[in-house]
Amino acid sequence: SRKHIVAGNWKMNKNLSETQALLTALKEKKNTGDAQVIVAPTSINLHAAVTALNGSDIQVAAQNMHQAESGAYTGEISASMIDSIGINTVILGHSERRAYFHEDDALLAQKVNTAIAQGFTVIFCFGEELEDRKNGKHFDVVESQLKNALFHLTASQWSHIVLAYEPVWAIGTGETASPDQAQEMHAFIRSTVGTSYDANTADQVSILYGGSVKPGNAKEIFSKPDVDGGLIGGASLKADDFFEIVNAF
Ligand code: 13P
Repeated sequence: SRKHIVAGNWKMNKNLSETQALLTALKEKKNTGDAQVIVAPTSINLHAAVTALNGSDIQVAAQNMHQAESGAYTGEISASMIDSIGINTVILGHSERRAYFHEDDALLAQKVNTAIAQGFTVIFCFGEELEDRKNGKHFDVVESQLKNALFHLTASQWSHIVLAYEPVWAIGTGETASPDQAQEMHAFIRSTVGTSYDANTADQVSILYGGSVKPGNAKEIFSKPDVDGGLIGGASLKADDFFEIVNAF
């Protein structure tokens, strides 16, 4: 059966001492369910996070990386740099990267390839904007995001992929997709993977939901058959809230 995953995307929040304080609090929490817990601090604090979480089941992911192996890309971090500090998971394609840093599907396909070549697990984010949903285009948009960035991969490379459906209109807005809207889209995503690959690939891929997941709504969202976890923004910045969500599984 599929892996349950609850990942906290800290975005551009928490300096070093705040990072250490939150990780100390997270380490003291008990995971009563079966979800793999991941946290993604900002890049400058990744090494400290790995050190702080030594001996814990909580894994660390990077929020982004460059597609090139190395070179003259001022301000960027590479897959091998991330790998060298003991991290093997990266979030790619977040809507904030797409909107504010102009990352498009073609670039993301390159980043995905670089990450997989490094042996990483990719938490690949995608999702429609409000306008798309209003126009009834949300399935088309999601299908094309997946096709353009991921469907060049081989079936066996899909063992490196975790999908994170994040409708842009639900991110940081307090507005979640309803559990039924999430399930409807997740089922569509799984069937699209099944059509392009095979039933086994579709059945194995974990599909996370992201967008205003909170302690109060996590259980109902996670109860849906095609929702295998969550990618949590705001509520991942507080240990109590985050573990209430983790323990919704
Ligand atoms: P919020 O949980 O703050 O809506 O953010 C979701 C998100 O973007 C996670 O990547």
